[in-house]
Amino acid sequence: MIPGFLVRCSRNSFLVRVGEETGEERDLECHIKGKILKGVENYYNPLAPGDRVEVEEDPARPGTGRVISLLERRSFFSRLNQKGLGPGRAASSQILAANVDLVLPVTTPLAPPFRPRFLDRVLIQADMAGIPPAIICNKQDISPGDPDVEERLEDFRRIGVPVLRLSAYTGEGMDELRALIRGKFSVLVGQSGVGKSSLVNALIPDLNIQVGALNEKYDRGNHTTTQALLLELPGPGPRTRIIDTPGIRRFVPEGFVPAELILHMREFAPLAGKCSFGLSCSHETEPGCKILEAVQAGVIHPDRYENYLRIREELAAR
Ligand code: GDP
Repeated sequence: MIPGFLVRCSRNSFLVRVGEETGEERDLECHIKGKILKGVENYYNPLAPGDRVEVEEDPARPGTGRVISLLERRSFFSRLNQKGLGPGRAASSQILAANVDLVLPVTTPLAPPFRPRFLDRVLIQADMAGIPPAIICNKQDISPGDPDVEERLEDFRRIGVPVLRLSAYTGEGMDELRALIRGKFSVLVGQSGVGKSSLVNALIPDLNIQVGALNEKYDRGNHTTTQALLLELPGPGPRTRIIDTPGIRRFVPEGFVPAELILHMREFAPLAGKCSFGLSCSHETEPGCKILEAVQAGVIHPDRYENYLRIREELAAR
Protein backbone atom coordinates (compact mmCIF):
# COMPACT_ATOMS: atom_id res chain seq x y z
CA MET A 1 0.00 0.00 0.00
CA ILE A 2 1.39 3.42 -0.94
CA PRO A 3 0.52 6.75 0.70
CA GLY A 4 -0.41 9.63 -1.58
CA PHE A 5 -2.57 12.69 -1.93
CA LEU A 6 -5.31 13.70 -4.32
CA VAL A 7 -4.39 16.14 -7.07
CA ARG A 8 -7.55 16.03 -9.17
CA CYS A 9 -10.88 14.26 -8.83
CA SER A 10 -13.72 13.55 -11.18
CA ARG A 11 -16.76 11.47 -10.42
CA ASN A 12 -15.02 8.13 -10.59
CA SER A 13 -11.44 8.82 -11.51
CA PHE A 14 -8.86 10.20 -9.10
CA LEU A 15 -5.36 11.41 -9.78
CA VAL A 16 -3.16 10.50 -6.79
CA ARG A 17 0.39 11.76 -6.33
CA VAL A 18 2.67 9.24 -4.66
CA GLY A 19 6.36 9.18 -3.78
CA GLU A 20 6.39 12.42 -1.80
CA GLU A 21 8.64 10.90 0.89
CA THR A 22 11.27 9.66 -1.53
CA GLY A 23 11.26 12.79 -3.70
CA GLU A 24 10.37 10.64 -6.71
CA GLU A 25 6.86 11.87 -7.22
CA ARG A 26 4.56 10.45 -9.85
CA ASP A 27 0.83 10.49 -10.46
CA LEU A 28 -1.41 7.44 -10.56
CA GLU A 29 -4.82 7.45 -12.21
CA CYS A 30 -6.98 5.64 -9.67
CA HIS A 31 -10.42 4.25 -9.07
CA ILE A 32 -11.93 3.57 -5.71
CA LYS A 33 -11.73 -0.04 -4.62
CA GLY A 34 -15.30 -1.29 -4.33
CA LYS A 35 -18.14 1.14 -4.79
CA ILE A 36 -17.96 3.14 -1.63
CA LEU A 37 -15.11 4.44 0.46
CA LYS A 38 -15.59 4.07 4.21
CA GLY A 39 -16.52 7.23 6.10
CA VAL A 40 -17.69 9.36 3.16
CA GLU A 41 -20.95 7.62 2.26
CA ASN A 42 -23.15 10.69 2.70
CA TYR A 43 -21.04 13.20 0.83
CA TYR A 44 -21.60 14.49 -2.69
CA ASN A 45 -18.05 13.49 -3.56
CA PRO A 46 -16.00 10.80 -1.86
CA LEU A 47 -12.62 12.49 -2.25
CA ALA A 48 -11.31 16.00 -2.88
CA PRO A 49 -7.95 17.50 -3.82
CA GLY A 50 -5.67 17.50 -0.79
CA ASP A 51 -7.08 14.26 0.61
CA ARG A 52 -4.48 11.84 1.87
CA VAL A 53 -5.12 8.27 0.84
CA GLU A 54 -3.56 4.84 0.58
CA VAL A 55 -3.43 3.32 -2.86
CA GLU A 56 -2.56 0.00 -4.37
CA GLU A 57 -0.77 0.16 -7.70
CA ASP A 58 -2.05 -2.08 -10.50
CA PRO A 59 0.96 -4.08 -11.69
CA ALA A 60 -0.87 -5.02 -14.88
CA ARG A 61 -1.48 -1.40 -15.87
CA PRO A 62 1.43 0.90 -15.02
CA GLY A 63 0.42 4.37 -13.95
CA THR A 64 -2.90 3.21 -12.54
CA GLY A 65 -4.16 1.98 -9.21
CA ARG A 66 -6.94 1.78 -6.68
CA VAL A 67 -7.70 3.95 -3.67
CA ILE A 68 -7.98 1.63 -0.69
CA SER A 69 -8.57 4.04 2.17
CA LEU A 70 -8.93 7.69 3.06
CA LEU A 71 -6.74 8.96 5.90
CA GLU A 72 -8.26 11.27 8.49
CA ARG A 73 -8.78 14.84 7.27
CA ARG A 74 -7.03 17.58 9.23
CA SER A 75 -9.54 20.06 7.82
CA PHE A 76 -11.95 20.27 4.95
CA PHE A 77 -13.65 23.10 3.13
CA SER A 78 -17.11 22.29 1.81
CA ARG A 79 -20.33 23.79 0.52
CA LEU A 80 -23.86 22.48 0.14
CA ASN A 81 -24.41 21.07 -3.30
CA GLN A 82 -28.10 21.66 -3.77
CA LYS A 83 -28.42 19.23 -6.63
CA GLY A 84 -27.36 16.39 -4.37
CA LEU A 85 -26.38 13.15 -5.96
CA GLY A 86 -28.94 13.22 -8.73
CA PRO A 87 -32.62 13.78 -9.48
CA GLY A 88 -34.77 13.40 -6.42
CA ARG A 89 -31.77 13.11 -4.08
CA ALA A 90 -31.26 15.39 -1.12
CA ALA A 91 -28.71 18.18 -1.18
CA SER A 92 -25.40 17.04 0.20
CA SER A 93 -22.07 18.28 1.42
CA GLN A 94 -19.52 18.73 -1.34
CA ILE A 95 -15.91 18.81 -0.24
CA LEU A 96 -14.01 21.35 -2.31
CA ALA A 97 -10.60 20.85 -0.72
CA ALA A 98 -9.16 18.78 2.12
CA ASN A 99 -6.33 19.42 4.60
CA VAL A 100 -5.99 23.10 3.69
CA ASP A 101 -4.46 25.84 5.88
CA LEU A 102 -5.94 28.88 4.19
CA VAL A 103 -9.17 29.73 2.36
CA LEU A 104 -8.79 32.48 -0.24
CA PRO A 105 -12.10 33.89 -1.45
CA VAL A 106 -11.38 35.72 -4.69
CA THR A 107 -13.36 38.75 -5.76
CA THR A 108 -13.05 41.69 -8.14
CA PRO A 109 -14.05 45.36 -7.94
CA LEU A 110 -15.59 45.06 -11.41
CA ALA A 111 -16.16 42.48 -14.16
CA PRO A 112 -17.71 40.46 -12.57
CA PRO A 113 -19.17 42.93 -10.06
CA PHE A 114 -17.95 42.98 -6.46
CA ARG A 115 -20.01 40.59 -4.34
CA PRO A 116 -19.51 41.13 -0.61
CA ARG A 117 -22.36 38.74 0.23
CA PHE A 118 -20.55 35.93 -1.56
CA LEU A 119 -17.51 36.75 0.58
CA ASP A 120 -19.65 36.59 3.74
CA ARG A 121 -20.75 33.09 2.79
CA VAL A 122 -17.25 31.82 2.13
CA LEU A 123 -16.01 33.38 5.39
CA ILE A 124 -18.83 31.67 7.32
CA GLN A 125 -17.86 28.30 5.89
CA ALA A 126 -14.16 28.92 6.55
CA ASP A 127 -15.02 29.67 10.16
CA MET A 128 -17.18 26.56 10.35
CA ALA A 129 -14.23 24.55 9.02
CA GLY A 130 -11.78 26.23 11.40
CA ILE A 131 -9.58 27.41 8.51
CA PRO A 132 -8.28 31.01 8.46
CA PRO A 133 -9.35 33.10 5.45
CA ALA A 134 -7.83 36.00 3.50
CA ILE A 135 -9.77 37.93 0.86
CA ILE A 136 -8.17 38.47 -2.54
CA CYS A 137 -9.52 41.37 -4.58
CA ASN A 138 -8.09 40.81 -8.06
CA LYS A 139 -8.23 43.08 -11.16
CA GLN A 140 -7.13 46.21 -9.33
CA ASP A 141 -5.85 47.43 -12.69
CA ILE A 142 -9.38 47.99 -14.03
CA SER A 143 -11.07 49.71 -11.11
CA PRO A 144 -8.73 50.70 -8.31
CA GLY A 145 -10.10 52.54 -5.31
CA ASP A 146 -13.84 52.33 -6.03
CA PRO A 147 -15.29 53.92 -2.84
CA ASP A 148 -18.12 51.37 -2.38
CA VAL A 149 -15.79 48.43 -2.82
CA GLU A 150 -13.15 50.00 -0.58
CA GLU A 151 -15.70 50.66 2.15
CA ARG A 152 -16.63 46.96 2.27
CA LEU A 153 -13.06 45.70 1.98
CA GLU A 154 -12.10 48.01 4.81
CA ASP A 155 -14.94 46.61 6.89
CA PHE A 156 -13.72 43.04 6.31
CA ARG A 157 -10.26 44.18 7.39
CA ARG A 158 -11.77 45.87 10.47
CA ILE A 159 -13.39 42.60 11.59
CA GLY A 160 -10.02 40.89 11.26
CA VAL A 161 -9.94 39.32 7.79
CA PRO A 162 -6.75 40.08 5.85
CA VAL A 163 -7.47 41.70 2.47
CA LEU A 164 -5.08 41.63 -0.49
CA ARG A 165 -5.63 43.97 -3.40
CA LEU A 166 -3.84 42.76 -6.47
CA SER A 167 -3.77 42.24 -10.20
CA ALA A 168 -2.84 39.00 -11.91
CA TYR A 169 -2.25 41.13 -15.02
CA THR A 170 0.12 43.80 -13.76
CA GLY A 171 1.64 41.77 -10.93
CA GLU A 172 0.67 44.43 -8.39
CA GLY A 173 0.25 42.85 -4.95
CA MET A 174 1.41 39.42 -6.12
CA ASP A 175 4.45 39.42 -3.84
CA GLU A 176 2.17 39.92 -0.89
CA LEU A 177 0.14 36.90 -2.02
CA ARG A 178 3.30 34.82 -2.50
CA ALA A 179 4.42 35.71 1.03
CA LEU A 180 1.00 34.86 2.47
CA ILE A 181 0.73 31.40 0.92
CA ARG A 182 4.39 30.39 1.22
CA GLY A 183 4.76 26.96 2.82
CA LYS A 184 1.00 26.61 3.14
CA PHE A 185 -1.75 24.75 1.42
CA SER A 186 -4.44 27.16 0.18
CA VAL A 187 -7.68 26.97 -1.75
CA LEU A 188 -9.02 29.64 -4.11
CA VAL A 189 -12.80 30.04 -4.09
CA GLY A 190 -14.82 32.41 -6.24
CA GLN A 191 -17.36 32.79 -8.98
CA SER A 192 -16.12 32.18 -12.49
CA GLY A 193 -14.35 35.05 -14.18
CA VAL A 194 -12.75 36.59 -11.07
CA GLY A 195 -9.35 35.41 -12.27
CA LYS A 196 -8.51 32.35 -10.17
CA SER A 197 -6.79 30.56 -13.04
CA SER A 198 -4.98 33.76 -14.01
CA LEU A 199 -3.68 34.09 -10.44
CA VAL A 200 -2.42 30.52 -10.45
CA ASN A 201 -0.76 31.11 -13.81
CA ALA A 202 0.92 34.20 -12.40
CA LEU A 203 2.16 32.18 -9.41
CA ILE A 204 3.40 29.28 -11.53
CA PRO A 205 4.83 30.82 -14.70
CA ASP A 206 5.24 27.65 -16.79
CA LEU A 207 1.85 26.27 -16.04
CA ASN A 208 -0.46 27.86 -18.59
CA ILE A 209 -3.81 26.65 -17.31
CA GLN A 210 -6.30 27.71 -19.86
CA VAL A 211 -7.87 30.91 -18.57
CA GLY A 212 -11.60 30.49 -18.32
CA ALA A 213 -11.15 26.73 -18.33
CA LEU A 214 -12.57 25.82 -14.96
CA ASN A 215 -16.08 27.11 -14.74
CA GLU A 216 -19.22 25.79 -13.20
CA LYS A 217 -18.30 22.32 -14.28
CA TYR A 218 -19.47 20.79 -11.04
CA ASP A 219 -23.06 21.55 -11.84
CA ARG A 220 -23.32 20.25 -15.36
CA GLY A 221 -24.75 16.78 -14.97
CA ASN A 222 -23.16 13.60 -13.92
CA HIS A 223 -20.49 12.95 -16.46
CA THR A 224 -18.39 16.06 -16.30
CA THR A 225 -14.81 15.71 -15.32
CA THR A 226 -13.25 19.12 -14.79
CA GLN A 227 -12.97 19.74 -11.11
CA ALA A 228 -10.65 21.37 -8.67
CA LEU A 229 -6.95 21.00 -9.32
CA LEU A 230 -4.09 20.93 -6.82
CA LEU A 231 -0.91 22.69 -7.94
CA GLU A 232 2.50 23.15 -6.42
CA LEU A 233 4.51 26.35 -6.63
CA PRO A 234 8.10 25.93 -7.76
CA GLY A 235 11.00 27.02 -5.61
CA PRO A 236 13.10 25.95 -2.64
CA GLY A 237 11.96 25.75 0.95
CA PRO A 238 8.70 24.43 2.35
CA ARG A 239 6.17 23.22 -0.16
CA THR A 240 3.53 25.69 -1.27
CA ARG A 241 0.38 24.16 -2.66
CA ILE A 242 -2.76 25.75 -3.96
CA ILE A 243 -6.08 24.41 -5.20
CA ASP A 244 -7.86 26.16 -8.05
CA THR A 245 -11.58 25.35 -7.82
CA PRO A 246 -14.21 25.68 -10.55
CA GLY A 247 -16.29 28.84 -10.46
CA ILE A 248 -19.11 28.71 -7.93
CA ARG A 249 -22.15 30.79 -8.78
CA ARG A 250 -23.84 30.39 -5.45
CA PHE A 251 -22.07 29.42 -2.28
CA VAL A 252 -24.37 27.73 0.24
CA PRO A 253 -22.76 27.23 3.66
CA GLU A 254 -23.42 23.95 5.43
CA GLY A 255 -22.65 21.87 8.47
CA PHE A 256 -24.52 23.82 11.15
CA VAL A 257 -28.07 24.73 12.23
CA PRO A 258 -29.60 28.25 11.84
CA ALA A 259 -29.08 29.13 15.52
CA GLU A 260 -25.35 28.50 15.14
CA LEU A 261 -24.90 30.93 12.25
CA ILE A 262 -24.20 33.76 14.68
CA LEU A 263 -21.18 31.82 15.97
CA HIS A 264 -19.60 31.73 12.51
CA MET A 265 -19.71 35.48 11.87
CA ARG A 266 -16.79 36.90 13.75
CA GLU A 267 -18.16 40.24 14.98
CA PHE A 268 -21.50 38.62 15.87
CA ALA A 269 -20.10 35.65 17.80
CA PRO A 270 -19.01 37.49 21.00
CA LEU A 271 -22.60 38.77 21.37
CA ALA A 272 -24.23 35.32 21.28
CA GLY A 273 -26.42 34.78 24.33
CA LYS A 274 -25.92 38.35 25.60
CA CYS A 275 -29.32 39.75 24.49
CA SER A 276 -32.04 40.45 27.11
CA PHE A 277 -33.92 37.42 25.78
CA GLY A 278 -30.75 35.37 25.81
CA LEU A 279 -30.46 32.57 23.27
CA SER A 280 -34.13 32.87 22.31
CA CYS A 281 -33.64 36.37 20.83
CA SER A 282 -34.41 36.43 17.10
CA HIS A 283 -32.21 39.55 16.64
CA GLU A 284 -34.98 41.17 14.63
CA THR A 285 -37.11 43.38 16.88
CA GLU A 286 -36.48 42.56 20.52
CA PRO A 287 -35.54 45.29 23.00
CA GLY A 288 -32.13 44.70 24.53
CA CYS A 289 -30.90 42.83 21.45
CA LYS A 290 -27.11 43.12 21.37
CA ILE A 291 -26.94 42.35 17.65
CA LEU A 292 -29.31 45.20 16.76
CA GLU A 293 -27.39 47.49 19.12
CA ALA A 294 -24.14 46.50 17.41
CA VAL A 295 -25.64 47.34 14.00
CA GLN A 296 -26.72 50.74 15.37
CA ALA A 297 -23.28 51.33 16.84
CA GLY A 298 -21.48 50.44 13.59
CA VAL A 299 -19.87 47.32 15.07
CA ILE A 300 -21.82 45.16 12.61
CA HIS A 301 -22.06 46.42 9.02
CA PRO A 302 -25.76 46.75 8.00
CA ASP A 303 -25.18 44.67 4.90
CA ARG A 304 -23.62 41.84 6.93
CA TYR A 305 -26.66 41.99 9.21
CA GLU A 306 -29.05 41.78 6.23
CA ASN A 307 -27.06 38.89 4.85
CA TYR A 308 -27.09 37.18 8.23
CA LEU A 309 -30.92 37.27 8.23
CA ARG A 310 -31.07 35.98 4.69
CA ILE A 311 -28.67 33.08 5.22
CA ARG A 312 -30.38 32.14 8.49
CA GLU A 313 -33.72 32.01 6.69
CA GLU A 314 -32.18 29.86 3.98
CA LEU A 315 -30.74 27.47 6.56
CA ALA A 316 -34.12 27.26 8.32
CA ALA A 317 -35.90 26.42 5.04
CA ARG A 318 -33.73 23.36 4.39
P1 GDP B 1 -11.51 32.17 -13.29
O1 GDP B 1 -12.79 31.77 -13.96
O2 GDP B 1 -11.74 32.70 -11.92
O3 GDP B 1 -10.46 31.10 -13.31
O4 GDP B 1 -10.95 33.42 -14.10
P2 GDP B 1 -9.88 33.46 -15.29
O5 GDP B 1 -8.52 33.36 -14.76
O6 GDP B 1 -10.33 32.47 -16.31
O7 GDP B 1 -10.09 34.97 -15.79
C1 GDP B 1 -11.33 35.45 -16.26
C2 GDP B 1 -11.08 36.67 -17.15
O8 GDP B 1 -10.53 37.76 -16.36
C3 GDP B 1 -10.10 36.42 -18.27
O9 GDP B 1 -10.54 37.11 -19.41
C4 GDP B 1 -8.80 36.99 -17.72
O10 GDP B 1 -7.95 37.39 -18.78
C5 GDP B 1 -9.29 38.19 -16.92
N1 GDP B 1 -8.39 38.57 -15.80
C6 GDP B 1 -7.82 37.77 -14.90
N2 GDP B 1 -7.06 38.46 -14.04
C7 GDP B 1 -7.13 39.76 -14.40
C8 GDP B 1 -6.56 40.99 -13.90
O11 GDP B 1 -5.79 41.05 -12.92
N3 GDP B 1 -6.91 42.13 -14.54
C9 GDP B 1 -7.75 42.14 -15.61
N4 GDP B 1 -8.02 43.31 -16.16
N5 GDP B 1 -8.30 41.02 -16.09
C10 GDP B 1 -8.00 39.83 -15.52
